[in-house]
Amino acid sequence: MNKIRIGYGYDTHRLVEGRKLIIGGIEIPHITGLLGHSDADVLLHAICDALLGAANLRDIGFHFPDTDPEYKGADSLKLLKATYQLVIKKGYVLGNIDCTVIAERPKLNPHIPAMQATIAEALDTDIDNVSIKATTHERTDAVGREESMIAHAVALVFRRNDYMRK
Ligand code: MG
Repeated sequence: MNKIRIGYGYDTHRLVEGRKLIIGGIEIPHITGLLGHSDADVLLHAICDALLGAANLRDIGFHFPDTDPEYKGADSLKLLKATYQLVIKKGYVLGNIDCTVIAERPKLNPHIPAMQATIAEALDTDIDNVSIKATTHERTDAVGREESMIAHAVALVFRRNDYMRK
């Protein structure tokens, strides 16, 4: 069992009218929102997959299938908390996460501190362990045409016993 492990997560969702835009657990006022079976929080889904990857626990669709009515309109913060419980159960605790959200509009930077606070609370960790960055695709491709958003995340986890002894 490795003492330190890294995980990587990626997600994308289409942008459509008539949906709330929820990123990093925060509702952001905008003319379009992300489409999905759950609340379609692209950032939280990428973080879930990074955490699962770090613990070698498959992926978010494996644990919370989008065919399951239980997860229709699901609050992704609940999925994030449930995901972290799986990681803890396997014997790991979070070190830190680092993420990038790619969105043409709206400007995400003003919302990042609230996202960090929300995610840190869900993962029972310090805000300093949750880094979120935002960028655009410079008006190229589907993201640049405001048809979709993308999120990437990496997570570092520690074997819990080693962590607790410190
Ligand atoms: Mg997703």
